[in-house]
Amino acid sequence: MDGAWAFLSGYNKKGENKTKKRAYDQTYEKTKRVRTFKDSWAKDRPWLKDSERGMTCDLCIRHQKGVSKNTFLTGCTARKLDSIIKHENSEGHKRAVEIDINSNKACVCETRMPPVASLLV
Ligand SMILES: [Zn+2]
Repeated sequence: MDGAWAFLSGYNKKGENKTKKRAYDQTYEKTKRVRTFKDSWAKDRPWLKDSERGMTCDLCIRHQKGVSKNTFLTGCTARKLDSIIKHENSEGHKRAVEIDINSNKACVCETRMPPVASLLV
């Protein structure tokens, strides 16, 4: 019988966790719809754009032939600084930065990019 009780209490515990998780999901759903993009994120990142479909990267879009597919090409809906930093450090984005620097070498005056040194930090 002990085994059965253990099973039952374990079952109840599971149910409780499920309810808690559902409540969490609901809060998540609610907060997810709130636009939390902060302009300060784009301050040092002229390539970062935010739209209805999510955050996009101008550099990766401009040089998408040379970079691997990533969510910032289509729109990253997880508007978190974490996602931006992850993208910023991704190989694909670094490659796009590299291509952009090389293609802008001819006419630096027209680019709105910050100095190369700040890009490499
Ligand atoms: Zn990018």
